[in-house]
Amino acid sequence: MPAKNISSKLISTHSRLTVAKFGGTSVADHKAMLRCASIIKNDQSTKVVIVSASAGVTNHLVRLCQENIERVERESIINKIRDIQFNITQYLENEARLNSQINNLLDELADFAFKQSQNYSSQTSDAILSFGEQMSSLLFTQVLNSFGVKAQCFDVRQVMKTNSLYGKAVVDIAQLKVHADKILQPKLSEYVVVTQGFIGQDGLSHTTTLGRGGSDYSAALLAEALDADNLSIWTDVVGIFTTDPRITDQARAIKEISFGEAAEMATFGAKILHPATLIPAMRQNIPVFVGSSKEPKKGGTRIQKSVESNPTYRSIALRREQTLVTVKSPAMLHANGFLVKVFAILAKHELSVDLITTSEISVALTFDNPTGSTQSLITHAVVQELEQLCEVTVEHGLSLVAVIGNKLHSTKGVGGTIFDKITNFNIRMICQGASANNLCFLVPESDANTVVEQLHNSLFA
Ligand code: ADP
Ligand code: ASP
Ligand code: MG
Repeated sequence: MPAKNISSKLISTHSRLTVAKFGGTSVADHKAMLRCASIIKNDQSTKVVIVSASAGVTNHLVRLCQENIERVERESIINKIRDIQFNITQYLENEARLNSQINNLLDELADFAFKQSQNYSSQTSDAILSFGEQMSSLLFTQVLNSFGVKAQCFDVRQVMKTNSLYGKAVVDIAQLKVHADKILQPKLSEYVVVTQGFIGQDGLSHTTTLGRGGSDYSAALLAEALDADNLSIWTDVVGIFTTDPRITDQARAIKEISFGEAAEMATFGAKILHPATLIPAMRQNIPVFVGSSKEPKKGGTRIQKSVESNPTYRSIALRREQTLVTVKSPAMLHANGFLVKVFAILAKHELSVDLITTSEISVALTFDNPTGSTQSLITHAVVQELEQLCEVTVEHGLSLVAVIGNKLHSTKGVGGTIFDKITNFNIRMICQGASANNLCFLVPESDANTVVEQLHNSLFA
């Protein structure tokens, strides 16, 4: 034991440590995995690697989480997943051994999928969803070893302890730190540790997940726990852009951005980072790099505490599938405690409100409804409970546009500059002033791309 403590201290005080995360497209196939292996080999400081599931796998798994899926369909989905993984193993040494390990995992998956088809539970959903990362980490470890990087696959559930909120489990950060120091840190002097993003384990040893896109957050949490010097997020674009490059080809990569701005971008839907990613990085002041594993030489975006330029307009984020709930009650007029009751119901159902606007007798609230999420957020039960208090209207089909920048709350003319460019659209729920870094509003889903494109062209021309 003492020897281990010494080696862990040496790692943390003398060598630089980079935690690197590779997203789904970066580990989609063997060629993509080789590019990641080369990035790791070229940077001796990268000692901890977090991988997502190979592209497409989690979406297949989400389908398996549904209730009442027939056997034929379950088998067909599992075969599609097998094809993705075997397409990688065919290029690897130990192909037969790896295929049998993948088959064992898929047999386990089939049992969970059968159980789910008989009797749905969110606990089984999380067990099902975890298989993508279990398989990709296994295969990527082999790719690294074949590439001459001494790597070991590590089951993150040994350290990533969570509560039992399946689908969006909350990590016990104090426990993570203790376990990471004890179990993970000592390995780093000998191996590059490859582990799974997105998954954790609750107190009953059941597998949990941290929410779609959660591998970024897992990587940030591990970087924090291991006191890393850098966190690198390798994805399919050469950094964070002024807006989603899929919306307009005018979007351009940002070289440097502050923690505050990037956190707003992530929170307000820039899919490039899971919303919580920057929280651990900010706590521990760990600089974050975002770059493309396809084109590592092109550089990327550096996210850090302070940056040289702080422009008024930095970027525009878009979050689709928002739900707008309006609660209306004449009893609210001059009354105390109405909002407390509304929020108590929302808290009971573990719903978190995004935007809020109020009038004399009504309150409008928005909720995120992430794509691919395994649960519907505003359930019938929530609406029924709210209806005991007031009139409730639920609207779907809306998108949230967020303009991100600096001093947006205290710079003259910001509102005029933004809304002058989009006068042809129905804008709702404008929220400004709560943060210096964002101004946001809702638009109909069908107008969302055009609004972002027009706004982008005028703010970043
Ligand atoms: P990964 O699988 O590597 O986690 P994601 O698909 O989750 O990758 O995130 C990368 C994608 O995020 C990009 O392909 C891009 O389309 C999208 N994206 C959304 N907003 C932005 C933005 N502002 N800058 C860059 N990419 C963005
Ligand atoms: N594989 C998970 C997902 O697709 C987690 C991740 O990729 O970050 O959501
Ligand atoms: Mg992602």
